Amino acid sequence: MERFDAVVAGAGPAGSVTAYRLASAGASVLLVDRARFPRDKPCGGGLTMRAVAELPFPPDPVVEHVVTRMRFRHAYRNAYERGSERPLILMTQRRRLDALLAERAAAAGADFRDGVRVTGLDVDAAGVTVALGSDRVRASLLVGADGANGITAKRLAIGPQPAYGVALEGNLPYAVARESHSGTAILELGTVPGGYGWVFPKGDHLNLGVGGWEREGPSLRAHLERLCRAHGTSADRLGNVRGHRLPLRRPDARLARGRTLLVGDAGGLVDPLSGDGMYEAFVSARLATAAAIDLLAGRAGSLEPYDTAVRRALGRMISASWGAKIAFDRFPRLTFALSRPPLVWPAVEGLLCGELPHPGAATGGARLALRGVETLARLVGSPGPRYRVEGA
Ligand SMILES: Cc1cc2nc3c(=O)[nH]c(=O)nc-3n(C[C@H](O)[C@H](O)[C@H](O)COP(=O)(O)OP(=O)(O)OC[C@H]3O[C@@H](n4cnc5c(N)ncnc54)[C@H](O)[C@@H]3O)c2cc1C
Repeated sequence: MERFDAVVAGAGPAGSVTAYRLASAGASVLLVDRARFPRDKPCGGGLTMRAVAELPFPPDPVVEHVVTRMRFRHAYRNAYERGSERPLILMTQRRRLDALLAERAAAAGADFRDGVRVTGLDVDAAGVTVALGSDRVRASLLVGADGANGITAKRLAIGPQPAYGVALEGNLPYAVARESHSGTAILELGTVPGGYGWVFPKGDHLNLGVGGWEREGPSLRAHLERLCRAHGTSADRLGNVRGHRLPLRRPDARLARGRTLLVGDAGGLVDPLSGDGMYEAFVSARLATAAAIDLLAGRAGSLEPYDTAVRRALGRMISASWGAKIAFDRFPRLTFALSRPPLVWPAVEGLLCGELPHPGAATGGARLALRGVETLARLVGSPGPRYRVEGA
C-alpha cells in the first residue's frame, strides 16, 4: 500500500492550498480530486483582497478584472456607490483559479491525481486508510477538503450537519455594457431572502448570480430572472447557469478529530453574510497545515488544536456576519440605511482588504452604525454570539 504523511481529499481552493503548504514544509502529500482538471465550480469567482492576502503566492496569472468600486442597491431602487484608490476584489473564474492552485501544489511536491474519488475512510489511532475506488492508500493524517457535497464530513461524523444556503449564477457575454461595468461590482441587497444578487465583471463577460436561504432554492430561477431584468437582460441569455449549496457551520460543529480535520466548505466555513468562502478556505488551509506539521513532528498528539485555532481566527467575523445577515433579512430598509453613510465605507473597505479583522474592530462613526446593525440582530435572536470565542 502506498504511504503518505497526508492525504488531502479535494483540490478546490482549500485542498490545493493545504497541499501546497504541507508539501512546501516537506511533508509527503497525496492530493486527489474526483473531477478531471481543469474543472469548473459554481462561484462568483471574486477574491477579496482579504482572501488574496492569505494566498501563499499571487493569483495574477488568472485575474481577469480588478474591482475598485462597489455599487449597492436596495430592492432594485436607491443605489449608492463607493470607490477606492486600490484594488478591493480580484475577479477570476474558478476553472482557471483552481487549475492554478492545483498546479502550484504539484510544483511544490504534492502528488496530484485528478479523476480520483475518495470512496471510503478507515481511521485508527496511528493513521488513516483511504479508499480510492478499488485502491487503498495509508496516511498519518487526512484533510477533508471535498466541499459542500463531499463525503469526508459525513464519514468522519465531525459535528452536526451544517445549515445550507443556495446560490445560482450564470455568465453574460459583454455586448455594449462593458465600459459601464468596468472596475465595478454590483450588489443588489434586499432582493433575495437570506442573501442578495450580484453582477461581477470578468474578462469577456459579466457574472450574474443570486443566493439566499436554502428554502429559496425553488425560487432562485425567478430571483435570477428579476436580477437580469433589472440589468436589461433575461436569464435565458445567460450561459452556463448552475447552482450549488453554501454550507454554514453550526457553532457547536467540530472541525477536527484525532488524525482528521475539515477545511473550507467541507467544514461549513462559508461567510453567512456574503456567501464567500475562499478567504475562509485559505485561512483554514494555513491553520490546518500548522496543526498537521505539529502532529507529524510529534509536537501534538492529534489535529484537535486546529479546531480552536479556526474558531479564534474566524469566530468574530462569522459572528458579525450572522448578525448583519439576520438584520438585513428582518429589517432590510433600516439595515441598508445604517450601512449607507459614507463614514461606514472605510470599515467596509478595511474588511474587504483584510486590514480590519472584524466589524467589532471598527472605529468612529462606522463603529456606531455597525453597533446599530448588531443591536437589530440581537433583538431578533441572531445566532452570531454563539460563534464568538472568548479572548479572540
Ligand atoms: C454561486 C456561488 C457563488 C460564490 N461566489 C463566491 C465568491 O465570489 N467569492 C468567494 O470567496 N466565494 C464564493 N463562493 C463560495 C466558494 O465557491 C466556496 O466557499 C469555495 O469553493 C470553497 O472551496 P473548497 O476548496 O472548500 O471546496 P470546493 O471548491 O467545492 O472544492 C471541493 C473539491 O472536492 C472535490 N470532491 C468532492 N467529493 C470528492 C471525493 N469524494 N473525492 C475526491 N474529491 C472530491 C470536488 O470535485 C471539488 O473539486 C460562492 C459559492 C457559490 C455556490
